[in-house]
Amino acid sequence: MDVQTYTSENRPYLPPHPAALAGSKAEISRLGSMGSDTQHQGQGLSNLAWSQSNDASNDFRSDFVTKPTLPMLEAIITTSLGDGDMDEDPTTNSFQDHVADLVGHEAALLVVSGTMGNQAALRAALGAPPHSILADHRAHNIILEGGGASSLCGALMKMVVPANGHHLTLDDVKKHGTTTESIYDCPTRVICLENTLWGTIMPLSDMRAISHWARAQNPPIHMHLDGARLWEAVAAGACTLREVGGCFDSIQLCFTKGLGAPIGSIITGSSAFIKRAKWSRKLLGGSTRASGVIAAPARVAIADVFLSGKLTAAQDKAKRASALWEQLGGKLQYPTETNMVWLDLEASGLSPDEFYLMARKFDLKIGEPIFGRLVFHYQITDNAFTRLCTFFRAVLKNSRSCTTCN
Ligand SMILES: *Cc1c(COP(=O)(O)O)cnc(C)c1O
Repeated sequence: MDVQTYTSENRPYLPPHPAALAGSKAEISRLGSMGSDTQHQGQGLSNLAWSQSNDASNDFRSDFVTKPTLPMLEAIITTSLGDGDMDEDPTTNSFQDHVADLVGHEAALLVVSGTMGNQAALRAALGAPPHSILADHRAHNIILEGGGASSLCGALMKMVVPANGHHLTLDDVKKHGTTTESIYDCPTRVICLENTLWGTIMPLSDMRAISHWARAQNPPIHMHLDGARLWEAVAAGACTLREVGGCFDSIQLCFTKGLGAPIGSIITGSSAFIKRAKWSRKLLGGSTRASGVIAAPARVAIADVFLSGKLTAAQDKAKRASALWEQLGGKLQYPTETNMVWLDLEASGLSPDEFYLMARKFDLKIGEPIFGRLVFHYQITDNAFTRLCTFFRAVLKNSRSCTTCN
């Protein structure tokens, strides 16, 4: 991982000294016991939702189910409260600089959600139609963002099915991109990649090849990365944030998936690009006043979850679960490369109805909004993981494809 070392010269705004936090802890504790019934009084911090991740402990539906933590609340209590829209909040400014530095870009802009980050970035990257955005046909901003790029940018979305069935390559991009400008054409102005995509990793070499080609076009094609889960690719050892940063003109990163912050995403890019993106954020209604309330816990999320290696530990559980599934005769739709396991229920000889019903009996939350997918995150407990393994054994026992469990 590429962790920047700081000198006293370039040190960013740091969280308050522990002594200051001790006072805030006592304050949180007091708040925590307020309004609760007498039975709970005095339990203080453990009484707060912020100190409980139980609800997420057996929840495999997504990594967005992760609960914000007490240190994040403490960061909110001690944040500065300057105006984010007017760039007057030190916590937000130093956080934006911090993330820009992590990916090696000049500047960054805090936004409210990943969808807003992608849409603000695309709007900032594009001029007037006709223009098109090339993306994988499974991309979040094609299937899960309400068609935003079409309504906000008037852009044609060019959806490409990767020839290798896994990730887009330069060949796919050359074949489906439009670099001519006849009156019939809708030129490709943005190439939008996603990493990880459905839990799979786009290799650094492919990102580099596409980027090199895009930048050699006239005019250069803007490279945007939907890096909502780029943290996972880095945690898996596939690349560093800065190597990826070098391939893109803009990157969107989410703090609320595996990192577990309460709110927020960020876009990074050149200073000129971020200046334009501020207009897009404004028109989308995403400018916030006391933005330190968003930035402070997001900073804790990066430090406590990403930098401390918790994503890797969750990915390890995902790998062990998918190995067991296959060992028991189960089939996968996609390889397990990061924190997602894609079960192929049909090929595994299982009826979805029975599968989901049985999962509930093992006290496991699996299913909606995306069926067949199990998502691992750092709040999945060892206990829930053990129950998942027991469930796999039970559900595959009677399946016609089971070869090892009779
Ligand atoms: C979650 C996600 C987003 C959008 O984030 P929201 O905060 O839910 O709007 C965008 N892209 C990808 C790949 C995501 O996983």
